[in-house]
Amino acid sequence: MKTRDRKGQSDKDNQSGYRKCNAGPRKFKIMISKQWKKIKPKHRGSQLIPPWTDTLYHQFMEKNPFCTLSFKYQHVKMNNSRKKKSPFFHAAAKCTFNGCNAIYTFSKKRNPKSEDKKICFTVKRFGEVTHHKKHRRFRADKYRRRGKIGKSLVYGVSHYYYSMLKQTSTEQIMAAT
Ligand SMILES: [Zn+2]
Repeated sequence: MKTRDRKGQSDKDNQSGYRKCNAGPRKFKIMISKQWKKIKPKHRGSQLIPPWTDTLYHQFMEKNPFCTLSFKYQHVKMNNSRKKKSPFFHAAAKCTFNGCNAIYTFSKKRNPKSEDKKICFTVKRFGEVTHHKKHRRFRADKYRRRGKIGKSLVYGVSHYYYSMLKQTSTEQIMAAT
């Protein structure tokens, strides 16, 4: 009898339906170099510019190729913000695998300087990574249905989801899982 309810990630579970589930590190850093010019917020803007999700996700994939991200929230601190201690940038993304509880936050503490060649973000994972062999990534399905297979699918980032959900705060995402 095969058991599918267990959350264990041993080889036995692997045979019974769970893909070998490597969670990747809980905390790591990613670097954006040339692409930063494209995505950095415009003067007084409080948002990174598309394709910022592709850019961050591409770097994320290098360190963690296991989860597929759908970005839910981003915030860039305004230049004139009085909140001196708040981070320059904060974003949250959720894994789109059915049943996967992983949420990732992307943050950058200090304001980037114009001479910075590399912009560094800290990525943190909350929740456990649980991927089932038979579960497909629903983001990809969504794209197929919408007939938009292309570069976005390769990177797996959906601007559609993002634009739909960009009002959602990190707290709401956390509460929903
Ligand atoms: Zn996942």
